[in-house]
Amino acid sequence: MPDTARPPSVDALARSLAGTGLPHPVLVEVAREAIAEGDPMSAPARAEAAGRALLQPVINATGVLLHTNLGRAPIAVASPGGRYSNLELDLGDGRRGSRQDRAGPLLARACGAERALVVNNCAAAVVLVLAALAGGRDVVVSRGELVEIGGGFRIPEVLAQSGARLVEVGTTNRTRLGDYAGAVQAPGADVGLVLKVHASNYRITGFTEDVGVAALAGLGPPVVADIGSGLLDAATPWLPGGPPSWLGDEPAARQTLAAGADLVTFSGDKLLGGPQAGVIAGRAELVAACTSHPLARALRPGGLVLGALQDVALAYLRREGAAIGFWRMATLPVAALETRARALGVGRPVACASVTGGGTLPGVEIPSAGVAVDGDHSAALRARTPPVVARVVDGVTVCDLRTVDPPDDAGLARALSELAATPA
Ligand SMILES: *Cc1c(COP(=O)(O)O)cnc(C)c1O
Repeated sequence: MPDTARPPSVDALARSLAGTGLPHPVLVEVAREAIAEGDPMSAPARAEAAGRALLQPVINATGVLLHTNLGRAPIAVASPGGRYSNLELDLGDGRRGSRQDRAGPLLARACGAERALVVNNCAAAVVLVLAALAGGRDVVVSRGELVEIGGGFRIPEVLAQSGARLVEVGTTNRTRLGDYAGAVQAPGADVGLVLKVHASNYRITGFTEDVGVAALAGLGPPVVADIGSGLLDAATPWLPGGPPSWLGDEPAARQTLAAGADLVTFSGDKLLGGPQAGVIAGRAELVAACTSHPLARALRPGGLVLGALQDVALAYLRREGAAIGFWRMATLPVAALETRARALGVGRPVACASVTGGGTLPGVEIPSAGVAVDGDHSAALRARTPPVVARVVDGVTVCDLRTVDPPDDAGLARALSELAATPA
C-alpha cells in the first residue's frame, strides 16, 4: 500500500490496484480521482466499484420478465472468443450478400409477412417507415394514440423528426372511422400513410372508441400498425398449451397483417424474447422502400444482434417456445416454482405475482412463487457476485423465482443464507 504521509504517485497507486484485473488506464483514472479528492485510501473501493459497474450477468429475482434496467428479454450471450461469420457473404457464389437475408425472412415467415427488415429498435423502425413512406407528406394518427413509450419515445416528436406531417384526428378517448376518412379525403390532403399505435404501456377504460386495422385498410393509404411488443401470432403455436390467459388481446403481428395492415413494426426484446432490435414486416414493396432509404444504413443492426435474433426466429419456426427465455420463464407452472422455493431452504416460501414489464401488458399479473425475508436487503443482494436484484414490498424482500434461471437457485440460496447471518 502507498505511504499515507505523502500523497502517492498516481502511477504507483494504480499499480497497487492491479489485482482487480482492470486495465491499467482505468486504474490510473481511479487513482487520479482518489488522489484529487485527497482520499488515496479509497482507491481500492473505487476500483472495485469501477469493476462492478461493468456489464455482467445478474440474477433477476424481481419477477419482472422484461425488466428495462436488466436489458428486457433474457438472451444467451454469445461466446466472446472471436469468430467470423458469413454476415455479408453469400456462401454459394462467394459474393457479397446481405446481412438482412436471415433473421428478417425467418421472422417474416413466422408471422405471415411477405418480407421483413431488422433495425436497431422499434423506435428506429417507426422513424424509418415514416421517413421512407411519408417523408414530406401527411400521416394520420388518432389523438388517443399520440403516446410516449419508454424513455422519451413520443409519437409526435418522432413524426416531426422523420419529416412527415402529423394530422391528428378524433379525441383522446374516442376516434371513429369518419374522423380518419375526413382527414384522408380533405381537400389538399396528401396522406402518405395512416398510423395506428398500440398504447402498450397504459390503458384507457370507460367511454372509449377506436378504429380497428380492418376498417382503416379500406381508406386507401397504406396502414402501418406499430404493435410494439413483438407478439408474432396470437395463437402462440410455439407454446404446447396455447396462449396463456394473461396475454389478453395483445395485438399480434400475424393477425394485424391478416386484418389488413400493410406493415407492422415491433421490438425484438419485448414479448418476442430476443435481443434489442426493431422489425418492419409486411408488404414486400413497402419493406423494400424502407430497405433502400438512406436512413436504413444508419439504423442497421450488428452481427451479434442478427445472430441472436436468427436463433429466436428459428425457435419460433420449430415451435420451441421453451428455447426462448422469455416464453420459458413466463409459462413455468406455479407448482414448479413452489417446489423450487421450498428447495431453496432459506427464507419463507410465498406466493407472489410476476409481471411482463418492459412497457408491455400493463396491469397484467402472472401468479408466481418465491421466498421472502423480512427487512430491505436489496443493497446487500445487489453487492453480491453475481448481483441479485430483488423486490422489496412493505419492508419485506421478495425473490420471485419465475425470472431466476434454475441453475442460479443455489447462488440465490447462498446469498439469502448469508443475509440471514447479518440482519438488516
Ligand atoms: C416499446 C414500443 C416502442 C419502442 O420500442 P423500442 O424497441 O424500445 O425502441 C414503440 N412503439 C410501441 C407501440 C412500443 O410498445
